Amino acid sequence: NVRVRFAPSPTGPLHIGGVRTALFNYLFAKKHQGTFVLRIEDTDQTRYVEGAEKYIVDALNWCGILFDEAPTSTAFSANSKNETFGPYRQSERKHLYKQYANDLIASGNAYYAFDTAETLNFHRKDHEAKGKTFIYNWHNRLKLSNSLSLSAEEVKAKLDAGDDYVIRFKSPQDETLHLTDIIRGDIKIDTNILDDKVLFKSDGMPTYHLANIVDDHLMEITHVIRGEEWLPSLALHYQLYKAFGWEVPEFAHLPLILKPTGKGKLSKRDGDKLGFPVFPLEWTDPKSNDISRGYKEDGYFPEAMVNFLAFLGWNPGTEQEIFNLDELIEAFDLSRVNKSGARFDPDKIKWFNHHYMQEQSHDDLAELFKPIVDEKLDIIVSETKQSTPHNDVDVNYISMVIGLIKERATFISDFWGLSHFFFQAPETYDEKASKKAFKEGTKELMLELVSIINTIEDFSVENLQTKIKGWITDNEIGFGKVMMPLRLALVGALQGPDVFDIMFMIGEGESVKRIEAAIA
Ligand code: GLU
Repeated sequence: NVRVRFAPSPTGPLHIGGVRTALFNYLFAKKHQGTFVLRIEDTDQTRYVEGAEKYIVDALNWCGILFDEAPTSTAFSANSKNETFGPYRQSERKHLYKQYANDLIASGNAYYAFDTAETLNFHRKDHEAKGKTFIYNWHNRLKLSNSLSLSAEEVKAKLDAGDDYVIRFKSPQDETLHLTDIIRGDIKIDTNILDDKVLFKSDGMPTYHLANIVDDHLMEITHVIRGEEWLPSLALHYQLYKAFGWEVPEFAHLPLILKPTGKGKLSKRDGDKLGFPVFPLEWTDPKSNDISRGYKEDGYFPEAMVNFLAFLGWNPGTEQEIFNLDELIEAFDLSRVNKSGARFDPDKIKWFNHHYMQEQSHDDLAELFKPIVDEKLDIIVSETKQSTPHNDVDVNYISMVIGLIKERATFISDFWGLSHFFFQAPETYDEKASKKAFKEGTKELMLELVSIINTIEDFSVENLQTKIKGWITDNEIGFGKVMMPLRLALVGALQGPDVFDIMFMIGEGESVKRIEAAIA
């Protein structure tokens, strides 16, 4: 029975790396009909950021990544199995941890340490001066102030006096740990290089290491899937399980996400520099009010983000690149996750977005585009003090426009630039294009064209095409001579969808008006 968890610390907005970790956990859980748990690791009160937990839940919701067990019902998937292992915020589990720290002291796996920050700093500096690194462990713990170096009475006196203390794990000397990671295989660690990590502090709070292991055990987590940055903690975590006498879960450390250049870890600054977000949703920092961009607000579809993130470190081993969530669940396998870093390519997510744009229905896209059209037309009306022919356009019209242009669009925000001439007559004509399109005789040709148009009774795309093309061939006029100035008259430039589609959409009257305006 697979149980996995996503265990973010609410210290700020979730970076896309965090979303990828959540996604891989989700895919693994669903693939194995397992349970996916959200646990909020908020024991470090100094780093707690207001609104971060809500952001995490909202961001994952947007991606369609939902939980079976979580602190808030907003994070639940429809068939979630109620609270069984809660509460799911470590701050609400505070009372649990002390007892486990005490158990480790009783079994000789942990000890009290009373060293002040000054003492520790002194040792650090002193070692540095000698070109060495100070590690609090078997090598020097007896020279420091702790329950291994002091007598039982001294320790008791300090505790009774309410002296500050920490509880440290007692890492063994001269042992080799044999660890396994699903992605990285066997890892050997020499315990002599490990330090005696702090597990508990006299303020009554556990550190990440203790709370994380206790909760993974109590919540019966079977697989720990997390970022590579936690790999250095694996040795300690493994030893903690052993010290408690608990079954060790399986571990999978996901590869780093690298900068677009492929060199070094992706950071928020890379996004700022190259103009792409590193967060799923926009985030306003509660202290500075600084706003960080989000993929959602930048116009990305959640399906594109999920599909893109799935490929950061994983591949299906086939040519297929397009996967929806269900297909990802089906195809996902931890054995196909790479250990080497995954390069973040901001163009690739655009490519996915373009793809998912094509998959949306025209009506859905029209709903999204309508407010933009309304706003643009309002501006035009107020600036020109005249109403435009297609003001107050209905969604059906917009939906048809989208059908003609979406192939060229990656974002909804591309639509207006690709389609404004469906809503508004050109105000200027591209200069270069004018030179190319308007030649001697063009005016006469356009006037003749207008009279041809006037003979068309049923103003359909087919009729337009047959009549106009027929007239051009019958008179051996040459297509360019007609089609170029016609396009320029309708669009204002030599771009856009098929001319006959445009004429049909804007209608006979407006088509004629634009042709006449262009040659006036
Ligand atoms: N709270 C840790 C984090 O913020 C959890 C790491 C883990 O999954 O063990 O990523």
